[in-house]
Amino acid sequence: MGVLVAAPEVRIPARDAVERALVDLERRLGPSKVDTSETALLNYGQDESEAIGRKPDAVVLADGRDDIAAVLAIAEKHGVPVTPRAGGTGRTGGAVPVAGGIVLATHAMSKILEINRQDLLAVVQPGVVTADLHAAVEAEGMFYPPDPNSLKTCMIGGNVAENAGGPRAFKYGVTREYVLGLEACLMGGRVVRTGKRTIKGVTGYDVTALLVGSEGTLGVFSEITLKLVPRPQEVATVLALFEDVRDAADAVRRIIAGGLVPRCLELMDGMTLGAIRKQGVAVDPRAQAMLLIEVDGGAGTLDPIVERLGEALTEGGHALDVVAAQDAAQRARLWEARRMLSPATRKLAKYKLSEDVVVPRSRLVDLLTEVDRIGERTGVMHLTYGHAGDGNLHVNFLWNDDSERPAIDRAIGALMRATVDLGGTLSGEHGIGVLKAAYLPLEQSSELIALQQDLKRVFDPSGLLNPGKIFPTGHAAC
Ligand SMILES: Cc1cc2nc3c(=O)[nH]c(=O)nc-3n(C[C@H](O)[C@H](O)[C@H](O)COP(=O)(O)OP(=O)(O)OC[C@H]3O[C@@H](n4cnc5c(N)ncnc54)[C@H](O)[C@@H]3O)c2cc1C
Repeated sequence: MGVLVAAPEVRIPARDAVERALVDLERRLGPSKVDTSETALLNYGQDESEAIGRKPDAVVLADGRDDIAAVLAIAEKHGVPVTPRAGGTGRTGGAVPVAGGIVLATHAMSKILEINRQDLLAVVQPGVVTADLHAAVEAEGMFYPPDPNSLKTCMIGGNVAENAGGPRAFKYGVTREYVLGLEACLMGGRVVRTGKRTIKGVTGYDVTALLVGSEGTLGVFSEITLKLVPRPQEVATVLALFEDVRDAADAVRRIIAGGLVPRCLELMDGMTLGAIRKQGVAVDPRAQAMLLIEVDGGAGTLDPIVERLGEALTEGGHALDVVAAQDAAQRARLWEARRMLSPATRKLAKYKLSEDVVVPRSRLVDLLTEVDRIGERTGVMHLTYGHAGDGNLHVNFLWNDDSERPAIDRAIGALMRATVDLGGTLSGEHGIGVLKAAYLPLEQSSELIALQQDLKRVFDPSGLLNPGKIFPTGHAAC
């Protein structure tokens, strides 16, 4: 059993409307781009969350802007819902169709159209794999900082739609900071270009900013213009082990208060370290928490920074061990272990739900304490890791049997409420999708939700683009 909280109230298209749309799609795009095979419908009906949707009626493999615009025109004409999709690695069911209809797959649009050293920008199609963009721009001496841990499989279109973060967000910020402009296709087939190729620019409303993080509900990106920065010349990675996760969180506080700006500041708790050990990685058995820290900068500038980092980590005498990676290969191994966390912890139980809450950095210890309390109260197995420097932790709830579901729901609800009470937010980078829609009213007022729904109607009056996402529409109450 998956964990779609409850089927949202969405209109399911009539069968004859779908049939007519399929005829039009095949005529317009050619049959090879319209896949109705059972395998495709099953594969494209899920993502990397536990969300269960409604099997789509067709998958369209878009090969360019005109294909996307054609799908959105035909879908609107026949009243058929469309769910945009890039890499399918989303954690909240954003790319999972909940009303059937068409999955609009953009992964074949994978061209890097331009890398411009003078203007420090790249122009890409939405299906470019994030790691491929990193490699291409770094080969040219430039740097695209956003680095979701799924970077080998997720795509820039999905990153922009989710406003993806990643470990390097502490220093460099999230995807939003790098999107200069977009070409977006709207429901009905209109195409708009938003934004600019310059850093400055204040003409009209900032529609680009509105589209970033819109989770595929306002428009479908066909081209994305991204800001680049110069590639840092040197990088150093430091690992610190602690007997208590609160001591690790306290070290994070000292690092930030000391004015240090690591590019990454990642935390893993005891259960997470257990999962890493099970993968064959040797970690001091006394350790119940780990910090993985990375700093970057110009050539020859890092030694004094690493020294100050070491002082901040060892102050108070709670660190079991602090080690700096000796070379690039050791750095790469440390990060490989970090990036493997999600699949490694997935093996601990049959089901895993990864929450993605954020609190002000000063409340990190309070959040960790609250997570333990929730675990004790509900008896739910849990583990926590994430981007501690941003106050953004992935709290994972694990279970094996459907009978545990009520306790899981209680744990999630309690976590969401605690996060909001601590001055935080329900999602740092995974978005709301379908899995968190029921909880949105905990954080946002009914007025704000209504305003956003009004905006949605301006872009998509018939509500056919990625229905059932973000807004609570008959999802189970929290
Ligand atoms: C192991 C693992 C680690 C992860 N680590 C991180 C992390 O560190 N940071 C982080 O932020 N996330 C992380 N994620 C979550 C996920 O990878 C991100 O949300 C990512 O941005 C999704 O990209 P995608 O290409 O897979 O998008 P998809 O899952 O295909 O889609 C995501 C959303 O984007 C919309 N969309 C897709 N393409 C388009 C388009 N062309 N136009 C408009 N909307 C579109 C979809 O409708 C959907 O709502 C992780 C996931 C996994 C499985």
